[in-house]
Amino acid sequence: LARAATLVGPRRVELREYPLPSLDGGGALLQVEVCALCGTDYAQFTGNYSRANQPSGVLVPGHEIVGTLLDGHPDLLRTWGVAEGDRVAVEPNIPCWSCPSCVTGDYVTCVTPRAYGFTPVDVPPALWGGYADTMFLSPRSILHRVPDGLDLRVASLFNVLANGFQWACNDAGLRYGQSVLVLGAGQRGLACITAARASGAGRIITTGLASDATRLEAARVLGADLAIVVDDCDTVEAVREATGGGGVDIAIDCTAGATRPAIDAIHCVATRGTVVLSGLKHGHGADGFPVDDVVTRQIHIRGGLSASFAAYGQALRFLAEQGSLLASYRTHELPLEEAERALQILGGELPDEHPIYVSLLVS
Ligand SMILES: [Zn+2]
Ligand SMILES: [Zn+2]
Repeated sequence: LARAATLVGPRRVELREYPLPSLDGGGALLQVEVCALCGTDYAQFTGNYSRANQPSGVLVPGHEIVGTLLDGHPDLLRTWGVAEGDRVAVEPNIPCWSCPSCVTGDYVTCVTPRAYGFTPVDVPPALWGGYADTMFLSPRSILHRVPDGLDLRVASLFNVLANGFQWACNDAGLRYGQSVLVLGAGQRGLACITAARASGAGRIITTGLASDATRLEAARVLGADLAIVVDDCDTVEAVREATGGGGVDIAIDCTAGATRPAIDAIHCVATRGTVVLSGLKHGHGADGFPVDDVVTRQIHIRGGLSASFAAYGQALRFLAEQGSLLASYRTHELPLEEAERALQILGGELPDEHPIYVSLLVS
């Protein structure tokens, strides 16, 4: 039997047992070792997660997964280029591989997305998430071998850091010496700062609330030159002042919910600057969108969603070579039995905890 922390309803997590899947129809089994948690896990937990095409219902959450391959069809393992016993990092998407997005290599925008951590238990074989000691891997999965010698707890940051490389570097087109503004110093913001610093960014500025003091300190250690506390000043004015009035080359909005930072990002970039919007606003539009400013200053705006295959590789290489500093901000690591508590800590519900990176140490 496999044990899985199962989300049975809003704020209700139960440890349940499931029969181990048969691999007769293909696929593989993964022994989950570490599953990292992000804001999406918390939104699922509280019943506030909604994205088009994503089913809800009773499910095993967990989409930032590293583990060891237990078993798999030999042809499939050959196709993946892995062997039983290999340590792998699992991309969350399970693409269909036949829609226009998939066949052109853009599987992140697959029109019929299925994903680990988001698939209900009534879809056989139920074990579709990382909050489980054993999970099923669809033949359509995308795996990355974990570099030799890389601790799996450090490797578990591969997902968040892949977002950092994707948004701050690849999507933004970061070139050596360019200045970067990262709005929001949460998990994703810190990953963007790490990736930008590793990729030769010049000045890096970040923003956060006074209550984010722990994260703003982490941002400075990870490479931010300036952390603006938005409670006591105007972000746009502060960024202009810090850049001699010219603005930054690149601004990335990593904040969730509030739309103001997305507008601030536009006002903070230099003429012909690039804005990457990666924080979802739960359906809210932004009043005061400065259309004329975007036109006249020829600002480049793009959305950043998830990460590419290349970015996952960048993240794993970085973690293998110099991941220890980022991993020092893995503030909480809990066993599977305490998945609910891990989610509460992550969501800031426990006043004495100051979470940054939270994960389940499954086996
Ligand atoms: Zn996530
Ligand atoms: Zn597809």
